[in-house]
Amino acid sequence: MEAKELIRKTRDGEPLAIPEIEYLVRGAVSGEVASYQLTAWMMAAFLRGLSREETLALARAMLGTGRRLSFANLGHRGARGAEIPGARAPENAPGARMAANLLAADKHSTGGVGDKISFLVAPLVAAAGVAVPMISGRSLGHTGGTLDKLESIPGVRTSLDAETFARTVEEVGFCIAGQSEELAPADRILYKLRDASSIVESIPLITASILSKKAAAGVQALALDVKIGDGAFMPQIESGRALAASLIETASALGIRARAHLTRMDRVLGRTAGNALEIAEAVRVLRGERVSSDLRELTLALGASMLELSGAARTRADARELLERQWRSGAGYDRFQRMVERLGGDPRVLDNPALLPRAAERLEVGAPSGGVFLGVRARAAGVWIMEAGGGRRRADDPVDPRVGIEILCAPGSEVDAGTPVLLLHLPPAAAPAELARLAAGWVMMGEKGAQPGSVLGETLDQASAP
Ligand code: URA
Repeated sequence: MEAKELIRKTRDGEPLAIPEIEYLVRGAVSGEVASYQLTAWMMAAFLRGLSREETLALARAMLGTGRRLSFANLGHRGARGAEIPGARAPENAPGARMAANLLAADKHSTGGVGDKISFLVAPLVAAAGVAVPMISGRSLGHTGGTLDKLESIPGVRTSLDAETFARTVEEVGFCIAGQSEELAPADRILYKLRDASSIVESIPLITASILSKKAAAGVQALALDVKIGDGAFMPQIESGRALAASLIETASALGIRARAHLTRMDRVLGRTAGNALEIAEAVRVLRGERVSSDLRELTLALGASMLELSGAARTRADARELLERQWRSGAGYDRFQRMVERLGGDPRVLDNPALLPRAAERLEVGAPSGGVFLGVRARAAGVWIMEAGGGRRRADDPVDPRVGIEILCAPGSEVDAGTPVLLLHLPPAAAPAELARLAAGWVMMGEKGAQPGSVLGETLDQASAP
């Protein structure tokens, strides 16, 4: 087999056979196929598309380059034999004892600004009795990265080997960590080439990349948060739907139960964006303090899907009730603290978020006019955070955990012109006057009576995929 010929075929729209795709993927890991050939093939796939069969073959081949963890029959070892109030007992289990045959669940977001849902949903679902092995990524472009946010907690380390990752899932109920060398190594190689060559926004390549990692981490039930809007990688609903359909169909073929939620990403989610600020907000929200309505809606929707798909709840209503109970009791916060400690983090910081890294200079921004404050434009704010050092342009850029924005009033409130609505946490040597003018342009205002509306849109299930 020759890489050159396979590139030509995809370039000319001829489908590749499964062994041909396997050859390219194995060659990526062994070095037998050169990186310029892999890049050329992926650009051809980006421009010409891949069929469903090719997409699935690519995901399977990438998965096959590393280990595959399994949490099947783990049940809820975090609570070894403990009773989880409100959890559904599996058909064959005595009493309400937790659950040897619940599927391991995860959620995946296609990326946004202010998205700290993983820190809420993973510990709450774990507290409800379901194992959550969550492999996450770093910030890229204007969107934030879960790992960068976690690493703003002093001491936290997110690069774990597969054994430590699996042990943390078993003992705490969930783990959020980076992709280990051993899980789908082809994805790391291919993703780096895509990132360096503008080949990221391709539905088949995104599908294979995400699902090969999920399957390798032992995920069996997956709630997908497909973001739509100017702050998302898929701005249009049609492309979001196509990505959702590709993900759930390929997931199904890999034996993963999946549901996609299409959600809005045109304004910053919650009340903060920026690494340390988002951790401080997530801690407050897990403790039940100042929970903004968009975070609450999204956490319950995605968490309920995880519990339903994993078999821990029969209906959406039961699942929401179960999650709310973990939230109210503080069990989710307790799990989050335990995981942070496992990652080497200083647990005192969670009880006292003032110990998180904090910018020395801050700048208030007023509403540009009177009316209803509707939120902060996601893309513009995300780009500023990235350029100010809170995100990265290139995969190996360092990030500044302190930089970010805080939203000072609830979306939907009436404000006068000049009322402070935003607090920018500045990098060293920022130019405040210029910034204040720029940031005023990110503020979304509406007429009297306007409301920001729900972040939730349609959902797509395996059965309803086209
Ligand atoms: N996230 C991934 O893991 N892979 C992609 O290709 C895009 C987003």
